[in-house]
Amino acid sequence: MSGFQKLFSDVALWTWRRSRWIHRRGVAAFSSCKPKVCVVGSGPAGFYTAQHLMKARRDVEVDIYERLPVPFGLVRFGVAPDHPEVKNVINTFTQTAKHARCSFYGNVNVGKDVSVQELQQAYHAVILSYGAEGNRRLGIPGEDLADVYSAKDFVGWYNGLPSCRELSPDLSCETAVILGQGNVALDVARILLSPTDILKKTDIAQPALEALMESKIRRVLIVGRRGPMQVACTIKELREMVKLPGARAEMLPSDFEGVPEALPGLPRPRKRLTELLLKAALELPTKEEQERRSKASRSWGLRFFRSPVLVLPNSDGTGTAAVRLAVNKLEGSGEAARAVLTDEVEDVTCGLVISSVGYKSVLIDPSVPFDSGKAIVPNKLGRVQQAPGLYCSGWLKTGPTGVIATTMNNSFDTARSLLEDVDSGKLDMSAAKPGAQSIRTLLEKRGVKPVTFSDWEKIDSVEMKRGESVGKPREKLLTVENMLEEAWA
Ligand code: FAD
Ligand code: NAP
Repeated sequence: MSGFQKLFSDVALWTWRRSRWIHRRGVAAFSSCKPKVCVVGSGPAGFYTAQHLMKARRDVEVDIYERLPVPFGLVRFGVAPDHPEVKNVINTFTQTAKHARCSFYGNVNVGKDVSVQELQQAYHAVILSYGAEGNRRLGIPGEDLADVYSAKDFVGWYNGLPSCRELSPDLSCETAVILGQGNVALDVARILLSPTDILKKTDIAQPALEALMESKIRRVLIVGRRGPMQVACTIKELREMVKLPGARAEMLPSDFEGVPEALPGLPRPRKRLTELLLKAALELPTKEEQERRSKASRSWGLRFFRSPVLVLPNSDGTGTAAVRLAVNKLEGSGEAARAVLTDEVEDVTCGLVISSVGYKSVLIDPSVPFDSGKAIVPNKLGRVQQAPGLYCSGWLKTGPTGVIATTMNNSFDTARSLLEDVDSGKLDMSAAKPGAQSIRTLLEKRGVKPVTFSDWEKIDSVEMKRGESVGKPREKLLTVENMLEEAWA
């Protein structure tokens, strides 16, 4: 080693030791000050982030603020009523909420009742986990006609979301068209076609159940802009459609040209999904299946290589008569293949159109950095860019894709980033923070009364009792007013 190299390595060692010493002193100094963290939103992202923080450090205190009087986000208002097993995550979330170092403040609309900056002043860190409450628009003429709904609103209606209570879609037509082929599209198709004897044993909202009992819809077409090898749904949801009691699949064999040949080269999950599609579309049914199909009074089908370009009004202009689809060709192959419109169009007669092309996060507070192109909060591993002390998790962080398990992992990652910042001294922990104490005072001054977790448990027990009396696991309260009445009874 040359003299210069030795000097350099001594200086480097001294600098490293000194930074460790400062860091340790820092950590020791921080340790007297408990990290007070606030989470905005009580969906899976909010709860999983809180869970990880409290598990990793025994001194972290977490307060969760939620706009609605009821917790759990899309687990309550998104997950289909006939998928009760998915909702079991609520048990884990309840344990988190009841943890001695966690508090829940429902009925607090962050961005309106309290600003993000006010939360930042009251807490060492603020984690935004408020999901994706908007919907992507198609941007085509006729999209705002009566009888055209976003899947977000339609799902909200059958799941009892207060803001969708008045939707009352007209189900008196024979054919409904769903635009988009993701799992949400399949949820909607299944709910439209399921026998109501099945639905009436679920926690579906009562007005939706009654409307579905009177529904005249017999045919549901689920339209995708790309091909069978790009379909966005997953195998479990497709299998449920294939086996749906009282319904048969009606596909167009021409949509599947070249697919059997491409099958061997597909990655495994895609291959299994495509095999199921081919089976439903092309394979001769067994005798038993043939009998089942012949008895079916309802049908559904996936339609491929079609992009919506226009929704046509009915003769008096009050509703929908048809949707115009452009025929597409694919450019490229595999997951990355792109749909390109041709000049060819076709009209599909229908009385209900549901646009299921994805959810979208919205900006709730002008002080928060927001990438309006991607509709997410710009972040690196959950750290909001150019906003020290501000973090994000869940769909707001990644965009509106992924199941609950995906959301769990990305929320754990955000919690880890925050904890690293506490340890490294990057997060300012130099002063104790008042946390909920100061926010409660602010809210009181503004006439906002939060709903605690035990208040929610009162709502929960009322809903369960109402459900018990009609053979449902839960009969949801459908207005914020009713929820608050029960919470504070
Ligand atoms: P959300 O669940 O949307 O939670 C966000 C929370 O923030 C909500 O409670 C909201 O009220 C609250 N909030 C919003 N604005 C504010 C504000 N200003 N102030 C305070 N709080 C606010 N995944 C599965 O694994 N299985 C399924 O069967 C399944 N079904 C689904 C069905 C549908 C229709 C959809 C859309 C998704 C489904 N998913 C399913 C995916 C799953 O729901 C998501 O991965 C997950 O809910 C995303 O969690 P999140 O916390 O980011 O958002
Ligand atoms: P998604 O899976 O992203 O599907 C969106 C669909 O819309 C795709 O078919 C997409 O086609 C299409 N699309 C997008 N823009 C379009 C446009 N401009 N014109 C025509 N079609 C367009 O979204 P999602 O169905 O809303 O689901 C969101 C997430 O929740 C997914 O991860 C899903 O798995 C999850 N989820 C899970 C369950 C479950 O586990 N049971 C249930 C519901 C939701 P392209 O592929 O061509 O873009």
